[in-house]
Amino acid sequence: MARSTPNPISRHACPACGSSEVVQISGGSVLPAILFPVESDRAADVPARAVRAAACCECQHVFLTDLDPEFSENLYANYYNLYPFKALETLNAFYREPFNRLLPVFCPPGNLSLLEIGCDEVEQMRCFLDQGYRCTAINPGARECGDVRFIDGYYGSTPVTGDFDRIISRFNLEHIVDIDGFFEQLHQNLKADGIAIMQVPNAEHFLHLGVLNMFAHEHPHYFCRKSLAALIFRCGFEVRFLNGVTEPSLICAFGRRTGGSYDPSARIGGLRQVVSEVCAFIGRSDDGVVLYGAGLSASALLYSSDFQARWYDRISIVDDNAVIQGRLMPNTPLTIDRPDDQAFENGKSIILTLSQQYHPAVIRRLRARGVAADIYAISSGGFKAVVSDC
Ligand SMILES: [Zn+2]
Repeated sequence: MARSTPNPISRHACPACGSSEVVQISGGSVLPAILFPVESDRAADVPARAVRAAACCECQHVFLTDLDPEFSENLYANYYNLYPFKALETLNAFYREPFNRLLPVFCPPGNLSLLEIGCDEVEQMRCFLDQGYRCTAINPGARECGDVRFIDGYYGSTPVTGDFDRIISRFNLEHIVDIDGFFEQLHQNLKADGIAIMQVPNAEHFLHLGVLNMFAHEHPHYFCRKSLAALIFRCGFEVRFLNGVTEPSLICAFGRRTGGSYDPSARIGGLRQVVSEVCAFIGRSDDGVVLYGAGLSASALLYSSDFQARWYDRISIVDDNAVIQGRLMPNTPLTIDRPDDQAFENGKSIILTLSQQYHPAVIRRLRARGVAADIYAISSGGFKAVVSDC
């Protein structure tokens, strides 16, 4: 739920992607603090305020621009509890089922730690408890309970200790005023390999349906698929899953950004360097080499301009895949052999040209068979001798 802080949402910048290309949406209505029908003794004198909103031209995020912290505080203290259904949105099967469909992928059974933001009900967390998870939840007014560690507070301002394998937020992000504070806290609480899953109403779908008003004072944000992805990226995370624009709610699973920048031309240039190194090695290997794996790395060597045809005599190629044994590499006299003892008996150096993931098993097998030859590997680290303790 939102917290009562001064409004950090500028009318001049998109809180999702950060763009300053925003347009003010005209014709906002004066809306009461609660839009749901209420009991007769509460129906009169509900505070009301004009809704002012803007839309981002870059990511199409829609957001309220003229929030009044006092009005919001009054709304949450005195009116939000008048919604007749507890956790209305998450109890609705229409929203719950798409979320539950993701669970086998992102929340498999196990001894994982999980934090749910904006939750104060054990029942809502039952699906995680049943998976064997250790569950924590934070929500204003949440009370301690045996199965779940509840924290009474606002995520982003109330400290939450610990780091978690999974962080869940269902129909909560659209309430958050200080969205940067929220994501800063998320950075502290999500483990390096953790996954966060956020579910929000899909404003694009809502508008498509022709419903005449989508605004409510408790929702400063109206996400579409593009703006949710933009927010997650801007806040330093990487989207792992995000469902479609035509669904009533958006569900996004994300984690920390992995790897550095991706520069394919520099990377391919680096690989050419490795090809030159390996070809130079073959050129020096008068006793010959065995290429283990008739795959793409082997083809890079054989068809490189650094490779000399007179080296065919010093090269043999083996592969574990019976389908290609006995066949030849195109335009060469090189036959693919079985990796049997005969292939290694002459002590030729072995170069692992098959995928890196198979290297440990192949090395173990060779050493277990008593193959004493030097082994080299081509992997993400380049061309290197294998240091084995066998
Ligand atoms: Zn934007």
